[in-house]
Amino acid sequence: GGAPTSFIEKPHEMSSIRKVIGVVSGKGGVGKSMVTSMLAVLANRRGYNSAVLDADVTGPSIPKAFGIHERATGGEWGMFPARSKMGIEVMSVNMLLENETDPVIWRGPIIADVVKQFWTTVIWSDVDFMFVDMPPGTGDVPLTVFQSIPLDGIIIVASPQELVSVIVEKAVNMAKMMNIPILGLVENMSYLTCPDCGKQIKLFGESHIDEIAEKYGVPVLAKIPVDPALAKAVDAGAVELFEGDWMDGAMDRLETL
Ligand code: ADP
Repeated sequence: GGAPTSFIEKPHEMSSIRKVIGVVSGKGGVGKSMVTSMLAVLANRRGYNSAVLDADVTGPSIPKAFGIHERATGGEWGMFPARSKMGIEVMSVNMLLENETDPVIWRGPIIADVVKQFWTTVIWSDVDFMFVDMPPGTGDVPLTVFQSIPLDGIIIVASPQELVSVIVEKAVNMAKMMNIPILGLVENMSYLTCPDCGKQIKLFGESHIDEIAEKYGVPVLAKIPVDPALAKAVDAGAVELFEGDWMDGAMDRLETL
């Protein structure tokens, strides 16, 4: 098995990108973009140059989390990503739209082409860790992205609800079929800590993440609670100011690559 490597596209000749990590999920709304942003921030805090390629074209939420509202600049010879306050390079379809509230109503092949161009025509200056916020699911678009960007590994994000269904297993199997290493699973919205008594409330019931991780022989990298302060930071475009140590284990794993 495995993906035919001939589909893999070359980055812009002026780009310098060392490791590329895909962040995937079985469906939208599970916190994939939030995990992607937090990883980029953490990598930056540990002294690496990090970048986010927002490949979630129909639901782009990365620029908002970083408070980025500018348009992309460049010419036929290449495009420049935006730079966050910390210096994280970001490219997203939002930066190409006339209005960032415009919906993206393109068909699959066009969406996949745009993502490819984010890889081939954007000048990523000097990136140690690039995080790709992948389109959710296991359909056409994520498949094309998997085939065109050389991912060093993927992290699968799910909420406890998905972890009882087959969609996480589909994502695991897709990565296996394409010979892309699965670095680990992240469970988001695992629990809520009661602000009064400190008790952990399992909103979506008992977690099955450890069983699934064991079944597929992949590690659990993080269990992230529902945190209103996190949602607020993301909403305010201030994800870079948010402090939380839930992703430390995931970043430790990435540093071994
Ligand atoms: P996805 O990329 O999977 O579609 P997002 O990362 O955009 O999902 O998250 C969906 C919404 O849920 C966002 O508004 C985000 O800020 C919020 N959110 C995600 N994870 C958490 C969390 N652990 N605590 C609080 N809010 C969260």
